[in-house]
Amino acid sequence: MDNCIFCKIIRKEIPCNKIYEDENILAFNDINPAAPVHFLLIPKLHIDSLTDIQDNHQSLLGKMLLLAPNLAKEQGCEDGFRTIINTGRVGGQEVFHLHFHIIGGRERLPAMIHQG
Ligand code: 5GP
Ligand code: ZN
Repeated sequence: MDNCIFCKIIRKEIPCNKIYEDENILAFNDINPAAPVHFLLIPKLHIDSLTDIQDNHQSLLGKMLLLAPNLAKEQGCEDGFRTIINTGRVGGQEVFHLHFHIIGGRERLPAMIHQG
């Protein structure tokens, strides 16, 4: 995926503040954090969005979910955190490379969706 910004980060063509990396997964701080802790967990495999996952992604996705609480704790989310996967236009997805937002800090986060 030549023009995908997250693929460029994976290929180290764009720098990031990395917090975790293994063969299949990368985690790095969001460039525009919404809270004191805000990092992104991404598969190295380019998948556009959650609507594009397939059966053969099962172990990769499971691995990402299992990692999330460990990394969150390491980053200082002792008392919980929020995991967000924006999907498609309605979900407000801006970068079309599947990513989990992990967001937290000391204070309770605001309500997830504002009505009105
Ligand atoms: P989305 O709206 O697609 O769920 O979220 C994309 C996220 O990626 C945003 O929170 C945005 O701040 C973050 N982001 C976009 N470009 C970059 C970048 O080049 N580096 C980093 N670290 N984060 C980025
Ligand atoms: Zn990509």
